[in-house]
Amino acid sequence: MAGKFKRILYGGDYNPNQWGREIWSEDMRIFRDARINSATVNVFSWAKLQPSENEYNFSELDDIIDMLSKEGYDIVLATSTGALPAWMFKKYPEVARTDYQGRHHKFGHRHNACPNSLVFQKYASALVDQLAARYASNPHVVCWHISNEYGGECYCENCEKAFRVWLKNKYKSIEALNKAWNLEFWGHTVYEWDEIVLPNALGDGMDTEQNTAFAGLSVDYRRFNSDGMLGNFKMERDVIRRYNKDALITTNLMGTYKGLDYFKWAKELDIVSWDNYPGYNTPWSYTAMCHDLMRGLKDEPFMLMEQTPSQQNWQPYNSLKRPGQMRAQSYQTVAHGADTIQFFQLRRSVGGCEKFHGAVIAHVGTENTRVFREVKQLGEELEQLSPLLPGAANSANVGIIFDWDNYWAFEYTSGPNVDLLYVDQIHQYYKYFYDRNIAVNMIPVDADFSRYKVIVAPVLYMVKPGMKEALEAFVANGGVLITTYMSGIVGETDNVYLGGYPGPLRALAGIWAEEIDALAPEQTNTVRFTDGTTAKCRIVCDLIHTEGAESLASYASDFYEGMPAVTRNAYGSGITYYLATDMDETGIAKVLDCAMEDGNVTAVIAEPTQLEITKRTTEAATYYFVMNFRDEAAPLPASLGGKLDLLTGKQTEAGELMNKFDVKIIQE
Ligand SMILES: [Zn+2]
Repeated sequence: MAGKFKRILYGGDYNPNQWGREIWSEDMRIFRDARINSATVNVFSWAKLQPSENEYNFSELDDIIDMLSKEGYDIVLATSTGALPAWMFKKYPEVARTDYQGRHHKFGHRHNACPNSLVFQKYASALVDQLAARYASNPHVVCWHISNEYGGECYCENCEKAFRVWLKNKYKSIEALNKAWNLEFWGHTVYEWDEIVLPNALGDGMDTEQNTAFAGLSVDYRRFNSDGMLGNFKMERDVIRRYNKDALITTNLMGTYKGLDYFKWAKELDIVSWDNYPGYNTPWSYTAMCHDLMRGLKDEPFMLMEQTPSQQNWQPYNSLKRPGQMRAQSYQTVAHGADTIQFFQLRRSVGGCEKFHGAVIAHVGTENTRVFREVKQLGEELEQLSPLLPGAANSANVGIIFDWDNYWAFEYTSGPNVDLLYVDQIHQYYKYFYDRNIAVNMIPVDADFSRYKVIVAPVLYMVKPGMKEALEAFVANGGVLITTYMSGIVGETDNVYLGGYPGPLRALAGIWAEEIDALAPEQTNTVRFTDGTTAKCRIVCDLIHTEGAESLASYASDFYEGMPAVTRNAYGSGITYYLATDMDETGIAKVLDCAMEDGNVTAVIAEPTQLEITKRTTEAATYYFVMNFRDEAAPLPASLGGKLDLLTGKQTEAGELMNKFDVKIIQE
């Protein structure tokens, strides 16, 4: 497929409105030197664009857009609705959010609109109408960026009323709702819709947002909140569409952010974009997983809307990116499907809480910095790569299921073990594939499973209608399914499947889990495989009985010593693996090695290597992205020797050493 942009967008958030005009032309000169070709503008300008209820002023934004247009920039134009002007709070206090503790907020901060406020919606769509009328036909505006980093929750009375309407549409009758949430428990039966209250600290939420008396209620609130914000996104999008039906419209997502069902959101976005802010100790495999998830949302190339050229400000320890790190991180992003590299931000702020957030131009105000030189090098390289890469596809034979309903329900569950964290669980299985350069797609529960040889469904706690049949068809037709403890436990409203765990997956797995033991951090058990090798296990241990499955390993201690810990079940033409406990890396690898053999899945290249190797393909060529993220130098595998490295223009040599943060893009 062709990319959605004519070239790789290179640039980022630019806020000339924070600066005197004497600086603007100097900015243009410096950016030109770095081959910056794109700017994201107007992200937080509502207060300037609309100084009062009845007054708009676009003169400064006109000048900014004129300047960038004359420079030939591809402009990403934001709608500014991510932060409300002060006058709106003063006149209409209901636009503010009410937080989890029930406190109604005042003017302040950002991402501060009650998603169900009609006042917010009225003024947001009016502002976007003004912007779209003015700029939607400007050919330099290549993308619209709605609001900013949607997120958070509101527990105001307005939202409560809207929640009741949402529930009525979903459940139709109050009896169905009582049943869905099992409200007979603790005598919570309700008789009227207006008896339902939002699950915050004043209601069925408990001391922290992770705990709730009724997970079914809280999961529905999460769905409602995600839908409400998505409704506001669509509202703004549709205003822009009225002025330009072909406009490319996005909003910046945040990887594994818990609050919004991004698979549902992605259906409404023209292109996915996201903000990548790994911490100083974030594993590279975790960042790769986030990229694969963001690509997986639409199964298409995405935009990297934000990353810092060097330093962040909002994490506990904001280390500098080491020399070469920003470049390598950028290429990892492109390797996993990005068609843009954009920074937050282009010039570092003079004040406010992000003044320590890195930028292309630092506080010194010149291009004579290490960070700028690295930005410039990358800009020159991306300019060379620009005709080749946009739109190139990533493909995979392995799909890992990621599902926001599961994320919510799994973490609301009271018991069996507080250390069960959804994203950590998914990541430890993802890491197996990352370490071996086996390409993975992160997929939703309603993906077309038939495209894959192997589906990995860790902690598939909530099995929604249709999934049992879809997974059974996948395995019956020859697929390999890997699932684990804490799977098949509840249906879509968090009520348990009766008749034995793992509920609807029982026939597929060929086992029955009678009990689930929980291990505290200081407790472990051992799993012993039939060949005598062992692995440590922790967190939970299912006590299972085989019902047709073969046991590959068993527990080595405790009263369930000898009971199966890993099983393999033939089902139709395919196989299901069940991991009954959370094993260490060697245990997971032992099982997944077998599963890869069953599924006939191979790595991007045949040779084992310490390098990360990822592949993107176009009709014309295949591009291997080879990167070293480890401290030790590693040799280039033989199969990638004697080929063209696009970054140097030279032939590669088999065995040549790659140091930390070295990158090659090898064309075949
Ligand atoms: Zn609200």
